[in-house]
Amino acid sequence: MRQKIVAGNWKMNKTLVEAQSLTSEIANMAEDEAPGDVQIILAPPYPFLYAVQNLVPELGTIQFAAQNCHQEESGAYTGEVSAQMIKSLGAAYVILGHSERREQAAETNELLAAKVNIALDNNLKVIFCCGESLDIREADKQNEFVTNQLTESLFHLDEEAFKQIIIAYEPIWAIGTGKTASSDQAQDMHAEIRKHIAGKYGETIANSTSILYGGSCKPSNAEELFSQKDVDGGLIGGASLKSRDFMDIIKSF
Ligand code: PGA
Repeated sequence: MRQKIVAGNWKMNKTLVEAQSLTSEIANMAEDEAPGDVQIILAPPYPFLYAVQNLVPELGTIQFAAQNCHQEESGAYTGEVSAQMIKSLGAAYVILGHSERREQAAETNELLAAKVNIALDNNLKVIFCCGESLDIREADKQNEFVTNQLTESLFHLDEEAFKQIIIAYEPIWAIGTGKTASSDQAQDMHAEIRKHIAGKYGETIANSTSILYGGSCKPSNAEELFSQKDVDGGLIGGASLKSRDFMDIIKSF
């Protein structure tokens, strides 16, 4: 049995008060409505991580993630946030390799390997994002591209370390565009990712790795996506900013 996960990536949205309201709304709805076997993860911006956790009655059903961390332990890195700091705030996860960071902050597979290491050293689980651009999909090179992202940033890990990894497949052409990958496209890539993991770590680890889909996932398409054999949940951007939509996605399993 793989862990089902729905994670909300709030990106650079909300003020403190809004972040607190959203968290409380989600926590209240989760108590009555959320299926017990789905891990809910909220990834607010760094400054709100500490404050919003107090609004969740019991950490467990809802956990928290940072959206990034720096690759060094500590030091003269003005404006940066370390994995150790994130852990000390009570977060259990960190999102790494989101395509927006790969593009806007020039994060390479090699840099991400270093970020993965520091996150795991600090006992954070990693939600590792991968995904191809439209050009790559149109050239039918998506499998090669995505599996290479995994090889270069994750496959130096030993088995125990790799068990702390959650994969999020997010085709860039589907993020924030309203264009969702079809359930077949998502399933095909998730199966490819699982096969690639099995090739390195064996079937048992591959079959217990959660692989999430991200990219314009919303209440109207979540059920179809989540019903695919290798889709274990979602990393939700836009639709995670509204408590009702986010909860309806969680209930789509
Ligand atoms: P979206 O974003 O749901 O708004 O497409 C997903 C993501 O970037 O994680």
